[in-house]
Amino acid sequence: MANIIKLLPDHVANQIAAGEVVQRPASVVKELLENAIDAGATSIKLIIKDAGKTLIQIIDNGKGMSETDARMSFERHATSKITSADDLFNLSTKGFRGEALASIAAVAHVELKTRIHKNEVGTRIEIEGSKIITQEPCATPVGTSLAVKNLFFNIPARRNFLKSNNVELRHIIDEFQRVALAHSQIVFAMFHNDGEVFQLPAGNLKQRIVGIFGGKTNEKLVPVAEETDIVTIQGFVVKPEFSKKTRGEQFFFVNDRFIKNAYLNHAVSAAFEGLLPDKTRASYFLYLTVDPSTIDINIHPTKTEIKFDDEHSLYAILRSTIKHSLGQFNIAPVLDFDR
Ligand code: ADP
Ligand code: MG
Repeated sequence: MANIIKLLPDHVANQIAAGEVVQRPASVVKELLENAIDAGATSIKLIIKDAGKTLIQIIDNGKGMSETDARMSFERHATSKITSADDLFNLSTKGFRGEALASIAAVAHVELKTRIHKNEVGTRIEIEGSKIITQEPCATPVGTSLAVKNLFFNIPARRNFLKSNNVELRHIIDEFQRVALAHSQIVFAMFHNDGEVFQLPAGNLKQRIVGIFGGKTNEKLVPVAEETDIVTIQGFVVKPEFSKKTRGEQFFFVNDRFIKNAYLNHAVSAAFEGLLPDKTRASYFLYLTVDPSTIDINIHPTKTEIKFDDEHSLYAILRSTIKHSLGQFNIAPVLDFDR
């Protein structure tokens, strides 16, 4: 009986992994923004064309990569962020799976320019469908510029599945806002087809929220703050009378990572019980800080779901904290609160 099992070639394995990591232009935006943050950037610029279908470029002033690391960064399971499985339970970085750049390079034309502080010149790599086309020295500032062109050029089915530019742009803006809200101290800018979409200076959380959602947001916010053994909660909820009929602005961050969690969302709704106008939903910007060893982020490649050790206690604390904040605001004027 002949043996029939073979290891897949790297470029095929990368393309399969890309199916999970890169669903649409917005997924690329998320991964690249997170890499820039992990690199310690204090200023990050996002440039897109045609809702990311032809170009997604991120320019950061982070620590950059050496010539060798620049090549390595496109290998699957290649990462500078963890070295052992134990590190998974003490994460301080957004990335750790080492598969974003490998996946992106498998399904697009990528141009990387990067320089580390101690080098006078940087390096430039072109890579297409997992194949390095060129690597050469180049003049470039310290930091990294990564341009992703013609996403899914080699997977027509995937490309045809992309939605209209309006819809894809909406997804990109969602990801951009989530990252910008998680890092108010970092300067962000976003341009679409050469037009400025966002220009966000460094500031505190309230300034960042106002920078994104407009000046009128200021008077709608009620501060939330609580510190217990298992969680620190900071942020704002939007006063009930300003709640929206649509999905509203609902943001949960855990250790500065945007997450979706229906159970915790329910805790917030429960705190608003009896206060919301008919058919509207609460809006909130809530930042939970927990011991990294009490959560598991490695549930899904996109890392927007998290498993908490003690979800029930979190629910109770969140609900009572927000109830308390809303109650306080009913009797006293809103206190100013800097995150
Ligand atoms: P991960 O972020 O999970 O490590 P990626 O594929 O996103 O995996 O990136 C691989 C590696 O490339 C990172 O661990 C990092 O060392 C390096 N890298 C990626 N983007 C940047 C960047 N903007 N600046 C500096 N280094 C980067
Ligand atoms: Mg990454």
